[in-house]
Amino acid sequence: MSFGISAKTRKLLKQHNIVLKKSLGQNFLTDAHVLQHIVDAADLDEESGVIEIGPGLGALTEGLAKQARKVVAIELDNRLIPVLQDMFADQPNVEIIHADALKFDFAQLITEKFGACSQVHVVANLPYYVTSPILVKLLESSLSLTNIVVMIQKEVADRILAKPGSKTYGSLSVFAQYFSEPSKVVQVPSHVFVPRPQVDSMVIKLSIRTVAPVPVENESFFFQVVRASFAKRRKTLLNSLSSSLPFHMEKTRLEQVIHSIGIDPNCRGEMLSMNSFAQLSNVLLRERDGG
Ligand code: SAM
Repeated sequence: MSFGISAKTRKLLKQHNIVLKKSLGQNFLTDAHVLQHIVDAADLDEESGVIEIGPGLGALTEGLAKQARKVVAIELDNRLIPVLQDMFADQPNVEIIHADALKFDFAQLITEKFGACSQVHVVANLPYYVTSPILVKLLESSLSLTNIVVMIQKEVADRILAKPGSKTYGSLSVFAQYFSEPSKVVQVPSHVFVPRPQVDSMVIKLSIRTVAPVPVENESFFFQVVRASFAKRRKTLLNSLSSSLPFHMEKTRLEQVIHSIGIDPNCRGEMLSMNSFAQLSNVLLRERDGG
């Protein structure tokens, strides 16, 4: 089966005289099982709307269109647009948009195109170079999404899924886990792509939270404190915060404040749970604002 898709991909590329661009992260998925795994993980039904980022030659789009009410696929490479339009010409529930997902207004798209859908999902086999900026953009812009199912580099997936105390736990873990509940769907070997990428991949699902998991008084300040806590990973929490907080605070006062909420100032940032980060940022916010 995977052989069939691989042959189809090569045939389409040849037919349209398309040479794949490494700079656009064009590694096309050719395994029917993995494609189906991705579609199934999104939990689509006949009322679902799907935003697909980077449809490539439509391998994933096809499966999504069978299960969803509407699929809007956003592709940056203009050479692929006529191929995709031709491919889905007789499927009115698929719309192809030529745009850069990094600059795209997803909120407007949801309002304009998915009014008739009860839930909206994002599904993508993301080019590696845009993974983090696209996920950050989707998560922090309060879009009314149900879930995001993405294939990304395994190394980034590990960071998103990481728990406190692990080496891969960092600001991306806290960020992703604050806005969603991430889970692993499947690990994907490099040989199922054309061409074969240099890194291993993983499909993860981010189930979007409707309520914040911890009480945070100021979200942007919370993420500044999280980033400052991980800024100097080899240093203690106190030293990392002391040199990276976005406002000045005497080190002795900072130490007292960290202590006052039951956190050891000499631990590393990677030991803090999301709840501890919330407490820390709330108390530091009061210090900053002179309360
Ligand atoms: N979905 C296809 C698959 O699974 O085989 C292709 C995936 S390939 C890894 C990534 C696709 O994203 C390519 O088609 C590439 O042209 C497109 N792409 C790259 N950067 C993009 C961007 N900023 N916005 C939209 N699409 C982009």
